Amino acid sequence: MESGCGERVVVALGGNAIAGESGSDPISQQRAVERAAEQIADLVLAGYEIVITHGNGPQVGNLLLKNDLARDVVPPVPLDWCVAQTQATLGFLIVTALEASLRRTGAERLVSTVITRVLVDSADPAWSRPTKPIGRFLPGAEARERIAQGEAWEDRGPRGWRRMVPSPDPIEILDRGTIERLLATGTVVVAAGGGGIPMVREDGRLRGVEGVLDKDLTGALLARTVGAACYVIATDVEAAAIRFGTPDQEWLGTVTPPRLRALVDEGHFASGSMGPKVDAVLRFVEQGGERAVITTLDRLREGVEGTVGTRVQFGR
Ligand code: ADP
Ligand code: MG
Repeated sequence: MESGCGERVVVALGGNAIAGESGSDPISQQRAVERAAEQIADLVLAGYEIVITHGNGPQVGNLLLKNDLARDVVPPVPLDWCVAQTQATLGFLIVTALEASLRRTGAERLVSTVITRVLVDSADPAWSRPTKPIGRFLPGAEARERIAQGEAWEDRGPRGWRRMVPSPDPIEILDRGTIERLLATGTVVVAAGGGGIPMVREDGRLRGVEGVLDKDLTGALLARTVGAACYVIATDVEAAAIRFGTPDQEWLGTVTPPRLRALVDEGHFASGSMGPKVDAVLRFVEQGGERAVITTLDRLREGVEGTVGTRVQFGR
């Protein structure tokens, strides 16, 4: 049964894996997390050492909306606080669901979540060009009021305007020491949810900043940091495709980093969705990781074992 042989694997759960198909109400979110937990428990039972990371787009959007609606009653909190809140909420949901899945199969494991801060560079060029849309759509007039207050908003077409925030590169998992210690005791760890809480270091002190990190890129950094053999991104498609959405669409199976780079340059992967995932798996393998996989949550174990999904590795 122990085919995993203690190999360390970082699993990144996408929005679809945790938001629920039927909406963002608590029960739907909990059900979606429970479904993900079943797949992850299967990996734990197979003998893999697991670190889980996850997205938080819909959840942080909801918090920002509450902040907005209640701003005359309760002082709004900064974006980094909102990320921390979603890490805690999704973290306890994942921990609770995974404990239950493991218990059902008779496996005794500690499961824990680490509120994770991630270092970014205050000189990152990303600060001057906000690229990540967050929160709700607003009509132009209201968006312009917010622009006057110093926020960046962009006309996103028929649905209205959306707030845009910078997405700097993750540089260092600041809570890696805690994560490593938990892993050393056999604990299944949830970390760096929502890409992590972005922090800058100024005069030797850390300070949270208003940005959003890409969870797939932070996942790649986390996987390198904990020395994972495999980084797997679980999303809602079975693989990355070339000519996606056309009659000639073709799922990519095993691919080397240079070949995948060439496909990126040909423009096969959309910038807001598959693009960052491909970038993240490439970074992981190019920086020394053994292999990385993009596949659907429902086939997570097969992905890790190399029989489905887009598998990125050198050689073969
Ligand atoms: P998640 O929320 O799981 O992080 P996203 O929704 O951001 O994932 O990205 C997955 C989506 O990317 C797929 O549902 C698909 O619609 C889209 N996509 C864009 N380009 C491609 C491509 N070349 N191959 C596969 N999927 C693609
Ligand atoms: Mg999505």
